[in-house]
Formats: sequence, structure tokens, C-alpha cells
Amino acid sequence: MNAFLETWFGLVGKTVLITGGTGGIGTAMSRAFAGAGARLVIASDDAPASAALARELGVLGCEVLAQPCDVAKPVELDRLVDAALGRFGTIDILACNAGISGPHGPLANATWQERGQLFRINLAHPLHLTSRVAPLMGAQGSGSIILTASIAGLRGNKALGLYGIAKAALIQLARNLAVEWGPAGVRANALAPGLVATSWAKAVLADPQARERRLSLTPLRRVGTPEEIAAAALFLAGPAAGFITGQTIVVDGGTLISDGN
Ligand code: NAD
Repeated sequence: MNAFLETWFGLVGKTVLITGGTGGIGTAMSRAFAGAGARLVIASDDAPASAALARELGVLGCEVLAQPCDVAKPVELDRLVDAALGRFGTIDILACNAGISGPHGPLANATWQERGQLFRINLAHPLHLTSRVAPLMGAQGSGSIILTASIAGLRGNKALGLYGIAKAALIQLARNLAVEWGPAGVRANALAPGLVATSWAKAVLADPQARERRLSLTPLRRVGTPEEIAAAALFLAGPAAGFITGQTIVVDGGTLISDGN
């Protein structure tokens, strides 16, 4: 890495805690943070996948703690923070990335249980983790929080209504954290991906009609790659985004700004 990239995008000496760190976007983020020189705490409900990713990144010289964690359980989130601090002593970057799509279809069809699980994973987990970690970052006078939201949180949505509500709340959480913790040197931002080629999007991608319809609404006429979301996360993590807080960065090939023509 040359001196410019090292200064603005390097994360040497920084500790990143990422949830959903072994999914499609999470794996790309983990690789990007590791490539920039960070130490990593990878939280995942998929123990074999996180062990494999830890081995892969370890070979490249990255220090990794692979921590099994069901983000729907506050006790496991607390254990995750304790394990991260126990191993590395600090958390400089927190990426709350784990998420599920939840029930499809009309809002009124979702059960109480489905709502609870969706909100626990997609909203309560970032709320709980940021509540634990932002004060630590504030005490050290620096930190960057990145919340993986979605363009579904920026417009009305018939198919994934509950999901959209939770993602809209994450976008507001980024603003609230930015206002609350900015004076202590902590930044908080959200990422709003459009359709990205991961297992999360497989239902749309596997249906030729749905895929075609979606691409016709996207000026770049393609789905995004996990690496393109990870690159935006890397930007938000470090000094390059040092004066950016409370924002939502849309990475969607233009879907949101398009009139569909
Ligand atoms: P993915 O399904 O590959 O990854 C989701 C990750 O969340 C996985 O690592 C999974 O293990 C983890 N996870 C889910 N429930 C969990 C739980 N209870 N405990 C711990 N981990 C749990 O999908 P992805 O596309 O990589 O999704 C990552 C994030 O990006 C999600 O928040 C998703 O909502 C968001 N997003 C994805 C797209 C897309 O098109 N792929 C678009 C917008 C936003």
C-alpha cells in the first residue's frame, strides 16, 4: 500500500468487530478490513464458516478472533463484546452487518413471533451492540460504527415491509448515534445496498422475471458485488471518511434515483 492509501484507508493497529462476518457481504467486509491491516473479531452463527475464514485471513497475517454468536440473544452479544475486549483490549470499528429478510408479503400477515425475530436480529442487535461499544469508543475519543441497512429502508416496500421498517430504523440509529457521540469523536453511518449477489438475494436472482424487472429499474443494469459494499464499508471505517457522520451511503447501481426508464 502506498503512503496515501496507508494514511487514508489503512487500519493497521485497529480492531474491527463485525457481525454476520461470514455471510456474502460480511465475508467481503472481513477480507477488506483484514487487507487494510486491521485485527478482526468475526461474530457468526456459522462456526465452521468463521473458523475457515479465520484460517484464510490468518495465513495473510491478520489476527482474528472467530466468536460464535447468535445476535438475537443479548447474553451472546455481551459475551461477544467481552471476548473482543479480552483478546484485543479495544474496539475501534463496529460493523453491525448480520441481518435476515424475514417474512415476505403483506405486513398484516406477519406473526408476532416473526416480527419479534426480525426486529431482534435486524434492529435490537445493532442497538444493543452500539449501546455497549459506543461508550467505550467515546472514552477512547475515537471510533467508527457502520450499520448495514438497505435501500428498503429508504422507500416503501410491499414485499419486505417489516425488513424495510427495521432498516429505516437503522438509518435513524446512525443519525442518533452520530449526534450523541460525535462530540466524543465517534462517527456512525449506515450503508444502504441495493440488490447484491449473496444468498440473501437468491430468491430474486433465481427468478428470471423478478431479476429482469429489478435490473430494468437499475441504471447500471446489474446486481452489485459484495466487494462493492465492502469497499464502501472500508471507506467509512477509516480516516478517509473522518468528517462523515450520521449519513447513509447508498450503493445500489442507481436503483433509488431511477424513474424506471
Ligand atoms: P447473507 O445471508 O449472506 O448474510 C447474512 C449474515 O447474517 C450471515 O452471516 C448470517 O450468518 C448472519 N445472521 C443472520 N442471522 C443471524 C443470527 N441470529 N446470529 C448471527 N448471525 C446471523 O446476506 P448478505 O447479503 O451478506 O447480508 C448482509 C447484510 O446486508 C444484511 O444485513 C442484509 O439485510 C443486508 N443487505 C443485503 C442486500 C442484498 O441484496 N444481498 C441488500 C441490502 C442489504
